[in-house]
Amino acid sequence: MTYSTLALSIAESATLRLNEQARLLRERGEAVIHLGIGEPKNRAPMTALLGAASKLNTGDIKYVPTDGLPGLKKAIIRYTEENYDRLVAPENVIVSAGAKQSIFNILYTLLNPQDEVIILAPYWVSYPEIVKMCYGIPVIVRPEDGTFHPRVEEIERAVTSSTKAIILNSPNNPSGIVFSDEFLAQIVDFCERRGIYVLADDIYHKLVFDGKQPTPAYRFTTKDVENSKIIVINGVAKLYGMTGFRIGWTIAPRKMVEVMTNVQSQVTTCVSPFLQTAAEAALIGMQSIVEQLRLTIQNNRDVIMNELHGFTGVKCVKPQGTFYCLPDFRAYKQDSVELSNFLLQRAYVVTVPGKEFGMEGHLRLSYAGSVKDVTEGIARIKWALDPNSPNEIYIGDKKMVRDWL
Ligand code: PMP
Repeated sequence: MTYSTLALSIAESATLRLNEQARLLRERGEAVIHLGIGEPKNRAPMTALLGAASKLNTGDIKYVPTDGLPGLKKAIIRYTEENYDRLVAPENVIVSAGAKQSIFNILYTLLNPQDEVIILAPYWVSYPEIVKMCYGIPVIVRPEDGTFHPRVEEIERAVTSSTKAIILNSPNNPSGIVFSDEFLAQIVDFCERRGIYVLADDIYHKLVFDGKQPTPAYRFTTKDVENSKIIVINGVAKLYGMTGFRIGWTIAPRKMVEVMTNVQSQVTTCVSPFLQTAAEAALIGMQSIVEQLRLTIQNNRDVIMNELHGFTGVKCVKPQGTFYCLPDFRAYKQDSVELSNFLLQRAYVVTVPGKEFGMEGHLRLSYAGSVKDVTEGIARIKWALDPNSPNEIYIGDKKMVRDWL
C-alpha cells in the first residue's frame, strides 16, 4: 500500500457521508427528511452578509495575519469578556477555519506521539479521529451508570502518566445534555492539579433550554488565562447559523497561541478575510438572532420529545441544549448502523448511528430543521419500526405499504 498507514486509519466523517447519501436520494426525487443535519436552518445574520459584501466590494482580498484580523479578534475579546467574564489579550486569541480546525491545531500543538486524550462518550465523531491525526491516543470514558453524564471517578481511573488533555463538550453533541456545575468544578480542579489540559468545546454554549445558563469552565479556576490549563474553543457556526463561513477560534495562553500560529501559518496561511469580517459583524451585531434561534430550537426539542414519548420501546434523555437528542433504539435493533441505513432506504429519513458517537444502539436525531420535518420524520420512523403503527403512510405523494413487520 502506497498511502500512509495513519491517513488510511482515519474514518470518513459519518455525518458528511450521510449528507451526501441524502443529497443523492433527493436528486432521484425521493422526499428525504434530514434528521441528521448538524446545522440550524436560519439564514446568516444580515449584518454578517453585509459585512462580507462590503469587504468583497473593496476588491482588496489578500493574505492577512495568520492568527486573525484585529477587528475580529477585538470582537472575540469582547465576546469572551461578556460571556466568560475573562479579559484576554489579542495574543490569547487565534482564529481558524472553523472550530474543527481550532481543535486540530490545539491537539497538534499539545500532543507528542502516544500522548493520551480523554474523550467522554457520547462524543462528537471527529474527536477521536483528530487525536489520531495528531499521533495521539484517544481514551474513551463511558458513563458506567448508562446515563450520558460523565463522572469524575471514572475519568480519574482513565488518567495515566501519558494523559495530556481531556475534551469537554457541554452542551453535548450528540446527547444534548449539559454537564453539571459540580462536575465541571471537580474536573477543572483535578486537571489543574494534575497538569492536564481541559479543552472546553463551547460551540453550542448559548443553545441551552428551560432558563438554564451555560457555565463556562473558567468559572471554576482562580488562575488567569496564562496559567490556567483551560483552553476555550468557540465559533459562529452553530449560534449564528453560519456553518459555511468556517470561522472558529481558540482562547489559550500566549505561548500556545504563538505555536498554534506557526502551525496554522504552514497549513492554511490565514482564514479568508471577508469571512472573518462577516464573523466580526455577527459578533458585534444584534444578538437577538441567537435568542430567536434558541427559542425555535427549544420548541423543536419539545416537539421531538413529545413525538418520542408516543413511541413504545424508545427511551430518550431530555436534551438541555444543542439541537440533538440521542434516543435508545435497542428495543428495535442493537446495530445502529444497520438501523440508520434501514430508515434511510425504507422511510427516507436521515439519522446518524449512535455507534459513530460511541453509543451503539442509539440514533442521533437533529431537531435543527422545521417542526414539520421533526413530526413527519418521527412518524416515518414509527411506521418503519413499530408494528402497532398503521402500516400505510404517504412519503411525498407516494403511498407506502409496510410489508416487513
Ligand atoms: N465541535 C462540535 C461538538 C461540533 O458539533 C462541531 C460541528 N458539528 C464542531 C466542533 C465544529 O464546528 P465548525 O463548523 O466551526 O468547524
